[in-house]
Amino acid sequence: MPVSSFARKAVKAAVLPGGLVTGRRPGDVVVLLYHRVVGAGGEIDMPPGLFERQLEVMAAQDRVLTLDQAVAGDPEGGVVVSVDDGYRDFHDTVLPLLVRHRVPAVLYLATGLVAGEGDGPDDPDALTWSQLAEAVATGLVTVGSHTHGHVDLARAPEQVCRDEMTRSRDLIEDRLGVACRHFAYPWAVGSPAADRLARELFDSAALDAWRTNRAGSTDPWRLGRTPLLASDGLAFFKAKLQGRLDGEALAYRLLGRGPWRRP
Ligand SMILES: [Zn+2]
Repeated sequence: MPVSSFARKAVKAAVLPGGLVTGRRPGDVVVLLYHRVVGAGGEIDMPPGLFERQLEVMAAQDRVLTLDQAVAGDPEGGVVVSVDDGYRDFHDTVLPLLVRHRVPAVLYLATGLVAGEGDGPDDPDALTWSQLAEAVATGLVTVGSHTHGHVDLARAPEQVCRDEMTRSRDLIEDRLGVACRHFAYPWAVGSPAADRLARELFDSAALDAWRTNRAGSTDPWRLGRTPLLASDGLAFFKAKLQGRLDGEALAYRLLGRGPWRRP
């Protein structure tokens, strides 16, 4: 059953008061999680106009950190912009807006989605390596790994986890000539084996959804992220910036699934 936009907003409004107590404090870091910025509909597709307003708000009112600054433990804290998967709209829509507003971001790339790298025919929305190189050349974009085949690491044997992580890391480093030091778990799920490997192969790993990273008690290999959804609009986006909507996770736990579909 589709969940109406009204119901989604009602849940956000209901959990907001609790966020006043648990919201972001100095030194805390909120890692924002975006997927598509196309405006074709769906919760994890942010309309481009709204995405740009969100960037304006961040740039004007907040401290936008690079992932490296956040992982190093910035004393004042702030927000990090992350985009998952890697489709054509990252180059065509997201990148020009990041450049216009001078906002840094990390792209967690599932390298099997890049043109010419997948097993089957290319997605018409696939990014090319030269588009990714253009993104890196702006100096604003860090490319991290999101596995090669967007694999569910909670269910994958250890050797598959290792292959998926090293294959995507090596492709990024070979094709883009940059170090790939950060990782994000597909579907925000992991396993003890994947955790061991992430610690061995990367400097950080993004794991949980709807969790603000607390100053002094953040494990860089278990970073929490805050998913941004189309139903957030601008008002709930501002609440998420302040770490005040982590409670939205409860609604999705009750629904038994996230705003994204895990096969
Ligand atoms: Zn993903």
